[in-house]
Amino acid sequence: MASPKIIDTHTHIFVEEFSADRNQIITRASEVCRALILPNIDEESIAQVEAVCGQWPDLCFPALGLHPSSVPEEPGDVLNRMEALLQSRKWYGIGETGLDLYWDKSTLSQQVVSLNRHCDWAIEYDLPLILHSREATSETISLIRERQDGKLNGVFHCFTGTLAEAEAILDLGFYLGIGGVITYPKSELKNVLKAVDQTRIVLETDSPWLPPVPYRGKRNESSYIRHVAEAIALSWHVSTDEVAEITSRNALELFRLP
Ligand SMILES: [Zn+2]
Repeated sequence: MASPKIIDTHTHIFVEEFSADRNQIITRASEVCRALILPNIDEESIAQVEAVCGQWPDLCFPALGLHPSSVPEEPGDVLNRMEALLQSRKWYGIGETGLDLYWDKSTLSQQVVSLNRHCDWAIEYDLPLILHSREATSETISLIRERQDGKLNGVFHCFTGTLAEAEAILDLGFYLGIGGVITYPKSELKNVLKAVDQTRIVLETDSPWLPPVPYRGKRNESSYIRHVAEAIALSWHVSTDEVAEITSRNALELFRLP
């Protein structure tokens, strides 16, 4: 019997790092994954997200948002133009959005404005948020806690935080997106995952970035998600197939994929 397929809830397969061999990458992904969620990064990448999802409509599902590292000094206009696109087609998530204090602390107030607008959209369109937080997990949790009126849900993508942060996120009704970092020898994530509710874990690659062991230093791709599932299986003392089944069920529920 074939292994159950995995859902990659966060891949940037639309970026130019894949332009030379995207067909092969997606063919390989389709052997391992039953769906890929493609979170948009900036205004320029929207057309490419839509083109890839149009070409592989049964595998690739788009999300619309402005990455915190792409938030300009005056974000109002780009956010207005993105908001206008929300009605233009079916989107499966809002993001990625969030707070990033690693790359740029100077735009924090604009990032907060942007994240709040994304929260408005998620509520209005009843879509899950795809949240990026880098060196800003507690700030992101606080903002979501302020905004949580019972209608927000979503995922803290590429979660690498502490057990206390994981529990705070689950208390908010959100999911944890787990990627290649769990395969790194020094990562504490394996221990955190032992203690959290398995029904709130979804898998992701964040490809082309953050490749799992044994591909560190190389370009990441969705088919490598198998290594993430294997690492979680060790942590949960279940089979990799069970991790695939559990996390795909979770992702289907969160993103309401067809
Ligand atoms: Zn991303």
